[in-house]
Amino acid sequence: MSGHVYVVGLGPGDECHRTPAADDALKRARHLVGYGPYLARAPVRDGQVVHASDNREELDRACLALDLAGAGETVAVVSSGDAGVFAMAATLFEAVELQGGAGCDITVLPGVTAMTAAAARIGAPLGHDFCAISLSDNLKPWETILQRVRAAAEADFVMAFYNPISTARPWQLGKVLDLLREVRAPDTPVIFAAAVSRPDERIVVVPLGEAEPGMADMRTVAIVGSSATRSVPRGADGVWIYTPRRAAPVSA
Ligand code: SAH
Repeated sequence: MSGHVYVVGLGPGDECHRTPAADDALKRARHLVGYGPYLARAPVRDGQVVHASDNREELDRACLALDLAGAGETVAVVSSGDAGVFAMAATLFEAVELQGGAGCDITVLPGVTAMTAAAARIGAPLGHDFCAISLSDNLKPWETILQRVRAAAEADFVMAFYNPISTARPWQLGKVLDLLREVRAPDTPVIFAAAVSRPDERIVVVPLGEAEPGMADMRTVAIVGSSATRSVPRGADGVWIYTPRRAAPVSA
């Protein structure tokens, strides 16, 4: 009998943002596979086997899941947010490709990704065309990141930056903010949304001219508005940020 790999996004933090389909797969699996801190957020039931691994062992983790399922087991591979966004789903298919196919069923279940969770807290900054870019240069060259950020800024996309900064990569975000200031107006809203839907959630909005790398940490997603992104009053002293759904014609 062939087994099954479920690739499950746990959502950004609070379990209320985990989908019923993800819960169902987590219940059904006999093996839970993932990065230790993410597995710590998954409900573990009696009889389930937990395979926690380090952040850098993604391909090994994917191969383990395929091997277990190839032997008839039901496996849940967990990621935070959506497993298809800078996460394990793509690694799993990389392993399938390496192994020349999968001897099991695979189901990828969607989750709430950090940028949509963050956007919802502050209004609707992703209301019109946007892109998501990881600033981590672990898996792609730094030059590629700069090239993509510049192209996206020139095309006037709203941008969501994942992996903006870490202790091993302290300088990239500053360089990206400098680049953005060459292209975008200094009053462009920048949202730093940290630990969204966790007890220490923190959301800060600043104009691009005042944005600093110290406003982000590794649990932050940063959203940079387009030229159309605007703010409206929210209660006494706050703001909602949104990007209108209608775009002006491109000037010649
Ligand atoms: N698969 C995940 C992204 C993994 S990459 C998803 O769909 O959300 C890790 C990056 O995601 C972090 O560096 C941060 O930029 C972002 N992130 C993950 N959880 C977050 C949260 N609760 N609040 C803000 N950003 C988060």
